[in-house]
Amino acid sequence: PEAITVADLANRMAERGADLVKALFKMGMPVTLTQTIDQDTAELLVTEFGHNIKRVSESDIEIGISGDDDAPETMQPRSPVVTIMGHVDHGKTSLLDAIRGADVVAGEAGGITQHIGAYQVTLPDKSKISFLDTPGHEAFTEMRARGANVTDIVILVVAADDGLKPQTIEAINHTKAAGVPMIVAINKIDKPEAKPQKVREELLQHEVIVEQMGGDVQDVEVSAMQKTNLDKLLEAVHLQAEILELKANPDRNAEGTVIESKLDKGRGPLATVLIQRGTLKVGDVFVAGASSGKVRAMIDDKGKQVKEAGPSVPVEVLGLSAVPSAGDPFTVVDNEARAREVAAYRQGVLDKQRTTAAPVSLENMFASHA
Ligand code: GDP
Ligand code: MG
Repeated sequence: PEAITVADLANRMAERGADLVKALFKMGMPVTLTQTIDQDTAELLVTEFGHNIKRVSESDIEIGISGDDDAPETMQPRSPVVTIMGHVDHGKTSLLDAIRGADVVAGEAGGITQHIGAYQVTLPDKSKISFLDTPGHEAFTEMRARGANVTDIVILVVAADDGLKPQTIEAINHTKAAGVPMIVAINKIDKPEAKPQKVREELLQHEVIVEQMGGDVQDVEVSAMQKTNLDKLLEAVHLQAEILELKANPDRNAEGTVIESKLDKGRGPLATVLIQRGTLKVGDVFVAGASSGKVRAMIDDKGKQVKEAGPSVPVEVLGLSAVPSAGDPFTVVDNEARAREVAAYRQGVLDKQRTTAAPVSLENMFASHA
């Protein structure tokens, strides 16, 4: 129960995951971002990074935020969170739009949707899938480098008339490095010049072996434009999610990650938060990166006000003191004094980082995995 993943610890310390991995390696512990370390090691690492350990309660270290201490019996199934990646113009946006249009709930609501950086679709069997609506490798790289593992499954889009391109290969590398399972959507099959089999063969050269080639990576031929086989693609996601047995404890203070943020003239600082554990409620006091606040209202991806949001649900939060950054951890805390204290602490860390940290790049990400 006292174990915490390196990624989560990095998040709570507002340090880069890669730096923690490096430090652990020097301490003789070759672990990856997703592996867990025990409380003693975590404390050692916290000290190593020059942070003071302040025990808030018996089990809370440092910044006063709980680790992954949810007991197995508290865990409930949660929906998968999907990111779509691929080369420019291969159809990421078209696919996101088409999938969103296929949502039965959005259809019932009269198709009124709002862009909050993520959305959830409901399948005919009532199961849900969350999509991060901010395609782009940068967001993925940046968030992962900061230890925010928000994606459970990557859909790799490859245009069947164009084949593998530099950003496709980059996406494959990111996904592999993150240890996230992949589903390949071979897009634009409506085009006469589409060569889906050639795509499969090219993937093979990059060690992505799809089912049709005897591997275990699911591949689905789709047309985002003609909305062909979207159901098959969503079914593939559903199947992959079942294999992953994704779970979270919904009955605790909410924790999540900021997906998108902005300053709205009328409503002030806004953040779309993907809840990852616990349930966020109106009135909850929170810290989001170096800003803090109290949830004044929450709006879902259909533009509807909601009173609470559970694991895997993206929701726009009103009531922040300042605009946080994408990738910032979002954490509910017990009271406003605590929220201000954590926010101030994180601001201090950020100020320090700004003067010392190297920019996040692919190279130093991979270096940490070497
Ligand atoms: P992104 O850059 O990956 O987000 O790609 P877009 O979704 O913007 O699509 C790039 C271009 O490809 C646009 O002109 C789309 O209309 C077109 N496109 C996307 N999907 C399909 C498809 O399934 N079939 C055809 N024929 N064109 C498509
Ligand atoms: Mg696009």
